[in-house]
Amino acid sequence: MIQPSQTFGPLLKRLLHPVFAVVIFLVFLSLAAGLRYGLIQQHTGQIQSNLENQARSMANSLEWEVIVHADAIRRMANRLTTDPQKPEREWREDARHYLRDFRIYQAIEWIDADFIIRWLEPLATNESVRGYNAAFDKQRRAALEAAKSSGNYDITGVINLRQGGKGIVIYAPVGVGSNNNGFIAGVFKMDMLARQVMASREPTMFQMGIRNKDDLVYTLSDFENASDSMSYTVPLSLPTLDWQLTVQPSPEWVDKQRSPWPRWTFITLVFMGLLTSLTTLLLQLILKRNQDLLITRQELDEEIVQRKTIQQDLVRLESTDILTGLANRRFFMDDLAHALTVADRQMRQVALVMLDLDRFQMLNDSLGHQFGDELLVQVAGRLDKLSDERITVAYSGGDEFMLYEQRVEDIDAVVYLLGRIKQCFEAPFVVQEEAHSVTATLGVAVYPQSGLDADTLLRNADIALYRAKEQGRNTYQFYTEGMQEREVMRLELEKDLSQALANNEFVLYYQPQLNINSGEIDNVEALIRWQHPRRGLLSPGEFISLAEESGRITDIGHWVVMAACRQLAAWKGTRFENLRVAVNLSGRELDDENLVERIRNALTTEGIPANRLEVELTEEIFIQNIEHNLGQLSRLHDLGVHLAIDDFGVGYSSLAYLRDFPVDLLKIDRSFITDVTERHDNAVIIRAIINLAHNLGLRVVAEGVETKAQLDFLKSHRCNLAQGYLISRPIPAAELERALTSGAFERTIMDKLEL
Ligand code: C2E
Ligand code: CA
Ligand code: CA
Repeated sequence: MIQPSQTFGPLLKRLLHPVFAVVIFLVFLSLAAGLRYGLIQQHTGQIQSNLENQARSMANSLEWEVIVHADAIRRMANRLTTDPQKPEREWREDARHYLRDFRIYQAIEWIDADFIIRWLEPLATNESVRGYNAAFDKQRRAALEAAKSSGNYDITGVINLRQGGKGIVIYAPVGVGSNNNGFIAGVFKMDMLARQVMASREPTMFQMGIRNKDDLVYTLSDFENASDSMSYTVPLSLPTLDWQLTVQPSPEWVDKQRSPWPRWTFITLVFMGLLTSLTTLLLQLILKRNQDLLITRQELDEEIVQRKTIQQDLVRLESTDILTGLANRRFFMDDLAHALTVADRQMRQVALVMLDLDRFQMLNDSLGHQFGDELLVQVAGRLDKLSDERITVAYSGGDEFMLYEQRVEDIDAVVYLLGRIKQCFEAPFVVQEEAHSVTATLGVAVYPQSGLDADTLLRNADIALYRAKEQGRNTYQFYTEGMQEREVMRLELEKDLSQALANNEFVLYYQPQLNINSGEIDNVEALIRWQHPRRGLLSPGEFISLAEESGRITDIGHWVVMAACRQLAAWKGTRFENLRVAVNLSGRELDDENLVERIRNALTTEGIPANRLEVELTEEIFIQNIEHNLGQLSRLHDLGVHLAIDDFGVGYSSLAYLRDFPVDLLKIDRSFITDVTERHDNAVIIRAIINLAHNLGLRVVAEGVETKAQLDFLKSHRCNLAQGYLISRPIPAAELERALTSGAFERTIMDKLEL
């Protein structure tokens, strides 16, 4: 599975950090600042050069202004030189022309050779300086003297004018050396001069400063906060003056010069930066979201996978039996139903086998549930080996298993399958360190002939199994149509059975047991018959198992004991008084806690000594519930009732119980007697049983004795009693009495037996 961290590389991870957006903004900010700085720098250069141009042009204007007026004054001086007698009135006229033409003069003066101001125009505003000595200090006198002798004009530099304010005076000598007749002087107020220079410009935009050498001698300023950083100084080329012009712009001018671009560039870039970083943040958010979604999706995927596995586990658990690990009945039935639809399409057959372990209940009861469970697990293990793509094996519950095979070709294939199942039981099962031979009985139903759906098929396989069990164990039965009828009959019988006792439909038949030694009959076995209102006389094989299943056997058994005791009571005082009657008890009857009490009651009610009654139990029943049975049978024995083991030799393999139970009699099973003369092994077994019984002090009955040869064999092996058709079939009491009275038994026996 891909981890979320693997999906996003470390680079991308870093790009997703919010700091990245901040970095982008900072980059833009510094770019903006840098660009702004560069642009401002560039503009400042531009402004500076603009200022230089302004300053140069101002300097040019100032130079021009001074030179023009200096020339004009010289011309006036030259006219006075050529016409020294020019009357004051004419000079004034001339001067007024100048004043009118050039409005920047403060005054035009004529100064005599002793430097005294004599004439001046306009008089009104300059009255105060008439008669004033222009050589008012040493320096001035020297300069004027020099101009007088050289004939060159002299410019004062900025001085404080007597008329007030600062100004300059340009002196042009009238004649050179000894011919000198004073000077024509032009007086200019600095403010006027400066404003003339500024005339074409906006005067409020610049501050003008004039330096003589390095001294600031004049300033014109209409504003206060001139920018210090911006100033430009131009040297002025004026005769006799070493002036420099310093121009400083007003902040307004500088601002006016400034371009809006640096600011706009800055704002734009910052804005762009902000936008970009916001976009980045947004993108990061989206990517983060995406990443989170991806992670959530992966987690969801994982969860889905987990849930699927859990679901699969659950399905498996639901379909599996926990103990055996095999498929359970529900799953099996679903599967079978599916297999049947497939078989229907393919026109194939399906064989369903129901399997029941023989004597399992007995083993389970006697050896414990732990044992039973272990045995079931082992059986399941062996059966499971049969399963493949065609065979499905399941545990049905109890001691029942079921399996089906698909695509069965013919009956031989089914028989082959049954053979394989049988093989599973060939080797003994080692449970709790002891080997046990276990067999199974099988019922088979084949689709489509034995049923068209899973349920019918299962029911019919069950019926077949039931029939097989009836036949004895360790065998199999195929379901046949007749079985169905028998099943219906069985169900009917079961219904009728509920009424049989009330309707008094049961009778006891008696089969005598011959004392081989004495040739007398002193024992009879009571065998029940059911006088069915429609079906006639039914043998116990047809209804005992039904009665056992429904639980009615307890009442029936009680009836048998009562009937036997009544019969014994009836025989009291007759020649049959000494007969002992054996009754058969089934396992279910033994479970009844009241059994002993009931028998005792029956005996006392009829006044019968207990030793007149014998109880036959099969080997199986004996050891089914050892603890419980031992108690019951001991109490019966204490009562004086005889105990016989019926069908001895076919059931339980262990003989240890013979030691523990208070047994009086062994009844060798009919199957050993039937072919005792043909089969050597059976003869050996019978001999062994007889010896064993005698050694334990028990008497032996052989049942199913039909031939003289059998009787001979039994006699020669000192068997105590013989029971069978050879002597008599089971017969009603009256018939028994008749036969006993007439000595019919003895006669037949005498005929057959050479006693
Ligand atoms: P079981 O106790 O082994 O009884 C002997 C059975 O063998 C009887 O069958 C009897 O008719 C039959 N039999 C006797 N001699 C011969 C012979 O020479 N050849 C052959 N082929 N058979 C012979 P039945 O009467 O049909 O009884 C069948 C079984 O039903 C009995 O077997 C017994 O287990 C059971 N049963 C009979 N009566 C009762 C009863 O009152 N209560 C209970 N719980 N079971 C009974
Ligand atoms: Ca019997
Ligand atoms: Ca028997």
